[in-house]
Amino acid sequence: MPVDQQMDWRSNKILNFIGGELVEPVGGRYFDNIEPATGQPFALIPDSDEQDLERAVSAARAAFPGWRDTSPTQRAQIMNRLADLIEARMDEFIAAESRDNGKPESLAAAVDIPRGAANFRAFANMAEKFGGERFEKEQSSSYVLRTPIGVVSTISPWNLPLLLFTWKLAPALAAGNCVIAKPSEVTPMTAYMLSTLVNEAGFPPGVLNVIHGAGAKIGAAITAHPDIPAISFTGGTATGLAIYQAAAPNLKKVSLELGGKNPTIVFDDADFDIAVAGAKNAAFANQGQICLCGSRLFVHESIYDRFKQAFLEQVGDITIGDPQQTDTQHGAMVSEDHMEKVLSYIELAQQEGGTLLAGGQRRRLAGRCREGYFIEPTVFENLPSDCRTNQEEIFGPVVSLIPFSSEQQVLEMANSTSYGLAASVWTQDQQRAKRMAEKIDSGIVWINCWNLRDLDTPFGGMKKSGLGREGTWDAMHFFTQQKTVTTPKEQ
Ligand code: NAD
Repeated sequence: MPVDQQMDWRSNKILNFIGGELVEPVGGRYFDNIEPATGQPFALIPDSDEQDLERAVSAARAAFPGWRDTSPTQRAQIMNRLADLIEARMDEFIAAESRDNGKPESLAAAVDIPRGAANFRAFANMAEKFGGERFEKEQSSSYVLRTPIGVVSTISPWNLPLLLFTWKLAPALAAGNCVIAKPSEVTPMTAYMLSTLVNEAGFPPGVLNVIHGAGAKIGAAITAHPDIPAISFTGGTATGLAIYQAAAPNLKKVSLELGGKNPTIVFDDADFDIAVAGAKNAAFANQGQICLCGSRLFVHESIYDRFKQAFLEQVGDITIGDPQQTDTQHGAMVSEDHMEKVLSYIELAQQEGGTLLAGGQRRRLAGRCREGYFIEPTVFENLPSDCRTNQEEIFGPVVSLIPFSSEQQVLEMANSTSYGLAASVWTQDQQRAKRMAEKIDSGIVWINCWNLRDLDTPFGGMKKSGLGREGTWDAMHFFTQQKTVTTPKEQ
């Protein structure tokens, strides 16, 4: 259960969950879990190694035949029960997610935790309706069986901890696989809390195992392990490339959801007020720490000055504060390292000739959060499209305003980065929206909205934003193998 805030924080130990039991790491080593809003440690995280992984692989292998043969309906019931248990502890999960990540509790309450539970429901539903195709030809009748892969692993990041953890786990389990799940070591708490509910939900021991620890150590060990033939990863592009290479010798199946440098494109015929609010949300939601955030804001030159003014007014109204306060809209960066990285990009933007229009500083709050890792929502202009600030993923509350004169010009700039995850286009001209959607190099294009997710639709990126797609259908495909069964027809 959530750690007791009154106790000495060193006795607040997160544990691994292996073979249905909460266990200490075999090597007995831990590292500190820091609360980003205060900069203070509040729990210990297992520094797991290969020994822990071997235990988890053995438990998962032993559990696989039973889980594979469990009916989809039974699997769905267990997954729905886990969703019930999360929802019954909604407030504890919200508080823990916010404390671990630095995001406002209001955001965790609106998005992270409800979606974390809903992912189990969505894939419980898929377990019952997912099946293979049939092919009827003159001489043959065929059908496709979709069978689980076996022991699979999920590796998830810190920005939407429970949401992305369960977004990967749930399809793997629904498809009949046994899972070794590694949450981010930066935000392990809600994954740990979930693991304490797994037995109560009715999962047999070994079906779902959760191992905590450093990416370079336990993450790399998972990626190299010969008995884990599939890995679903969400995180940075550099890590994704390392995983891709490590997986190659064993010909593992990999799904890679990676970074982004997403364009927000506002045309002169857009609904002005909706576009301003949408662009602000796209830039700064979750302190700009969402892979989908629109960090390059292209605005048609004919409305540029008016848009800039309205945008800056709204940015100035964002309430920065203690994530626990109900009126806080902008919380802490996830870690000191990440805050320093973002601040170094703010410095770089100035070296590259950018004009700072808003923010640009670490924000020191009073009281409990005085040592917290807060950065002001930051806006630049006058940066060329090809400079590093406009090409590299910053993953923080930093947006660059760029004017454009034509569709062709903005398309060239939008497509000029090595990423291709998401884009949002703001226009009332349906034909233009269609042209832009076809020509933007990204896996997702939102028209007059941002981050409006239908979980059934494919989700993922082009270029260095990833390989493969998630979404209810795509994730079930990823976590299954196809087997074609053919019989001859009577002649
Ligand atoms: P990260 O790559 O540092 O870490 C992600 C996970 O990988 C963590 O669990 C980490 O422990 C593990 N890991 C690190 N090194 C590893 C290795 N060598 N082998 C195996 N596992 C390893 O990413 P992060 O900093 O946690 O997350 C931020 C990044 O994630 C950003 O680039 C963001 O764009 C991306 N992201 C992408 C999506 C998407 O859907 N495309 C969603 C959220 C975040």
